[in-house]
Amino acid sequence: MILIDGAMGEGGGQILRTSLALSLCSGKPFHIINLRARRRKPGFKQQHLTCVNAAAKIGGAAIEGAAPGSQELMFAPTTIRPGHYNFNIGTAGSTTLVLQSVLPALLIANGPSTLILEGGTHNPFAPPFDFLQQVFLPAINRMGSKVEAHLERPGYYPKGGGRLRVTIQSAKKLRTICIHERGKIREQRATATVAGLPRHIAQREIGTIKQKLGWDEECLYIKEEPADMGPGNIVTIEIKSEYISEVFTGFGRRGVRAEIVADRVAKAALRYLDAGVPVCEHLADQLLLPFAIAGGGSFNTLKPTSHTRTNSEVLKLFMNIEISMDRISKDIWQITLSR
Ligand code: AMP
Repeated sequence: MILIDGAMGEGGGQILRTSLALSLCSGKPFHIINLRARRRKPGFKQQHLTCVNAAAKIGGAAIEGAAPGSQELMFAPTTIRPGHYNFNIGTAGSTTLVLQSVLPALLIANGPSTLILEGGTHNPFAPPFDFLQQVFLPAINRMGSKVEAHLERPGYYPKGGGRLRVTIQSAKKLRTICIHERGKIREQRATATVAGLPRHIAQREIGTIKQKLGWDEECLYIKEEPADMGPGNIVTIEIKSEYISEVFTGFGRRGVRAEIVADRVAKAALRYLDAGVPVCEHLADQLLLPFAIAGGGSFNTLKPTSHTRTNSEVLKLFMNIEISMDRISKDIWQITLSR
């Protein structure tokens, strides 16, 4: 039984999701304590319970300890069962994070799967749907799987009510890949979306992006969703390059001015553009798991975050894998996984 201290490093939900995913892939049981110890409200929230229940169902696992607020879990899987599943979080919790805990096992399962995930699709502190569809899935599909995500209904935090359909054609074995270049930029666009909030919020956000990035009008969009999906406001900057795409997202919040929301996203995009790397910080922590399952690979990215460092520590508890993080120039780091 692998013992995991949920307070290590970042001390968030990712330690649980990575453990679930790796336990399913390796068949190794684990016991986690101090779950989400470094979060404002530690322990299980509804989204994490859904991750555990989804992983238990797909992996025929025995579980002990999963309850709201609990900081402990024992998880012992049997075999991976690909198929058709529907998981409803029941709150606005993030559907893409639930996906993180079961997708790796289904990528290498011996049959196709379809997942319907209900809850939030655009949540702060989680990969928004657009990032999943345009960035994460195309990157891992280069390893031999064929995964497609369809947004059947957006679910903006805090209301939720979104619905995601994910179809997965597994690969017998994932290929190792290297992502060292992003190539020429092919397309770039920024979109400010409002649901049930005044249009001027989106207009001000687009004004800020225009000023910070100096982009032409044809790259700038405003989207108004039906009011009953709100309140919701997001700003998305998409950068499609020859070899990879990246999406940067900012979430409007009560008490934070629209200009500030847009300015933060613009700065994240500028940092990525200036560094010349292919992989941004979020994609970096999320690529570690599929790369480890493939048995190696390498990518260039920005300075590793605490999510990236913590995720690599969890990986090493389950798998026999070396992970090096080397600074190769002022703003570029190379992360390499090998057996
Ligand atoms: P945790 O904080 O431990 O629950 O993990 C959050 C996960 O969501 C990490 O994999 C982050 O990289 C990812 N994440 C958070 N914000 C974004 C974002 N704006 N775009 C893409 N991924 C994100």
